Amino acid sequence: QVRVRYAPSPTGQLHIGGARTALFNYLFARKNNGTFILRIEDTDQTRHVADAEEKQMEGLRWLGIEWDEGVGAGGDYGPYRQTERLHLYQQYVKELMERGAAYECFCTEEEIAAERAEQEARGETPMYSGRCRNLSEADKAKLRAEGRKPTVRFLVPKDQIIKIEDHVRGQVEFETNGIGDFIIVRADGIPMYNFACVIDDHTMKISHVIRGEEHLSNTPRQMLLYQAFGWEPPEFAHISLILNQERKKMSKRDESIIQFVEQYKDLGYLPEAVVNFIALLGWSPEGEEEIFSLAELEQQFTLDRINKSPAVFDTEKLAWMNNTYMKQADLDRVLNLALPHLQKAGRISEAPSETELAYVRELVSLYQDRMRAASDIVELTELFYRQEVKFEAEAEAVASEPHVKEVAAALLAQVQAAEEFTAESAAAMIKAVQKETGYRGKQLFMPIRVILTGQNHGPDLNKTIYLLGKSRVIKRLQQYLN
Ligand code: GLU
Repeated sequence: QVRVRYAPSPTGQLHIGGARTALFNYLFARKNNGTFILRIEDTDQTRHVADAEEKQMEGLRWLGIEWDEGVGAGGDYGPYRQTERLHLYQQYVKELMERGAAYECFCTEEEIAAERAEQEARGETPMYSGRCRNLSEADKAKLRAEGRKPTVRFLVPKDQIIKIEDHVRGQVEFETNGIGDFIIVRADGIPMYNFACVIDDHTMKISHVIRGEEHLSNTPRQMLLYQAFGWEPPEFAHISLILNQERKKMSKRDESIIQFVEQYKDLGYLPEAVVNFIALLGWSPEGEEEIFSLAELEQQFTLDRINKSPAVFDTEKLAWMNNTYMKQADLDRVLNLALPHLQKAGRISEAPSETELAYVRELVSLYQDRMRAASDIVELTELFYRQEVKFEAEAEAVASEPHVKEVAAALLAQVQAAEEFTAESAAAMIKAVQKETGYRGKQLFMPIRVILTGQNHGPDLNKTIYLLGKSRVIKRLQQYLN
């Protein structure tokens, strides 16, 4: 029975790295008819952010990553929020202490810091010395009377090798001599991550722990806890780091990458494109195909195709992928994604009229193929929201070619005489200009596009002319000819 979990700490919005961890767990569960669980690891109150839990869930839902069990979904192994499980942890701490596998430590932060400093001065790797291991009941009573509040530390056994068979990294070994007795319960009675995580993974019957490589150093500590309780540990898969384009470890402050799922939503990305992109961050299917729906990923996902080497976050690839999905998306869906951006840019009103909507719908349809994010619509359609043409550098060159005036004059006459003004009539007018001037192909179309849009490239010319509208087309042609 496959049971996996995504266990975010509510310290902020859904990060792209967290989304990937969630997605891999989700896909693994779906592929194996398993259960995907959302657990909230909220024992570190100092890092707690008020609406983070809600934001995490919102992000997952937007991506289409549904969980079967956990916060917001219920289930037989709850509660699924660690702060609601404190009674459970207490019981297991007691058990470890009774077995002599954990002990109370009364050291103050200052004492620990001093011990560290001494070790560093001797050139040793700092590690808790274990000085509270053998306190007598009398010693403890005295320390308590001083007002000290103990933490609980796990007693790490000497001279052991901890072996982890990792699905991604292969066999990984750690020596226990390199691990100091670590704190499992803070002085305020709240358990630490490593401890709570093991209790939860065990009691929630988690079969596979799929998480970021940054947790690999926690795993031997967690293995020691399983061993102390005599529990079977889950299987592990530690997925590689995500690097930025400079191939450096991505930091949350890195501005070269948009890092939070909500930001992609706000920019008008399509969730299926973001999911597709994230799936390929450190996982690759067989074959060359890169476009996968969530349903296809659910079919294909296996742990053995997770890459060992770090994933590089390629912003261009994400934009390309989103564009791929944009092109196929329903026009009204793309329109709805574009609207808030057009509103923010003041292009349409907050409560647009039917006419306004119909017009932007045509614009979106014209540029849909070129949109990498819905927010691109603002820049792409700028030329429809100004009176005069703004020439791009390469367009200037075309505009100054000698025959262009002739083309412009002929077109102006056509437009002025036109009774109707549609994309079809624009085509007819251009045809007439061709007949009259003898210019054809690029010699004909390029100058017209340049004079009317200031650009060398663009979407369908007839439709562009129609959407610019008769009076503006006349104005731009006259502006050019004068
Ligand atoms: N709460 C941990 C985190 O957010 C989860 C680690 C784990 O999956 O065990 O990184």
